[in-house]
Amino acid sequence: MNDVKLAVLGGEGTGKSALTVRFLTKRFIGEYASNFESIYSKHLYLEGKQLNLEIYDPCSQPQKAKFSLTSELHWADGFVIVYDISDRSSFAFAKALIYRIREPQTSHCKRAVESAVILVGNKQDLCHIREVGWEEGQKLALDNRCQFCELSAAEQSLEVEMMFIRIIKDILTNFKLKEKRRPSGSKSMAKLINNVFGKRRKSV
Ligand code: GDP
Ligand code: MG
Repeated sequence: MNDVKLAVLGGEGTGKSALTVRFLTKRFIGEYASNFESIYSKHLYLEGKQLNLEIYDPCSQPQKAKFSLTSELHWADGFVIVYDISDRSSFAFAKALIYRIREPQTSHCKRAVESAVILVGNKQDLCHIREVGWEEGQKLALDNRCQFCELSAAEQSLEVEMMFIRIIKDILTNFKLKEKRRPSGSKSMAKLINNVFGKRRKSV
């Protein structure tokens, strides 16, 4: 069984818990206790594989959440980065998170394949008081090799499910890429050994 680890990150009150709970239970619950962090587990069957999905929903206290990110970055295979379309500061926070995930020392040295990320503009039902345009979200995502969508955890169950499935599929694609790179890596190592010893043999 494949383990898939997903971290749902973003500013306080953007709807991280609402999205996670909506995906797990298909329900929207108005208020969630936000002073503790949770890792939820769910078994899924996707692309012919049994998956053990773990979703990390952090504690919303800003003093704990802000940029103490290192452990999440190492733990997760992929990220759902959430902002609230009616709150510009939450978009700035999401941008900072994406930059952090894409930082060279995080993404290139530690990982053979770049992490899967989806940027989510939540609370689309509040579009009458929108502060962040759809195009801005789309551009930030495109510029940083992320997927993008806008939705409403409050009103849309199917869209939330599709969003999670999209990112999980990206993670599975990354797993396959990593698997492909491993044998080619050992092949090139075999080539190297062969070259070194082959040459030596010739020179003796
Ligand atoms: P978190 O701090 O990121 O985990 O945010 P929560 O999931 O606790 O949600 C913060 C507040 O936003 C709560 O009052 C939710 O009811 C509300 N909320 C979450 N998603 C939506 C949404 O899609 N639309 C609206 N209007 N409110 C939402
Ligand atoms: Mg929360």
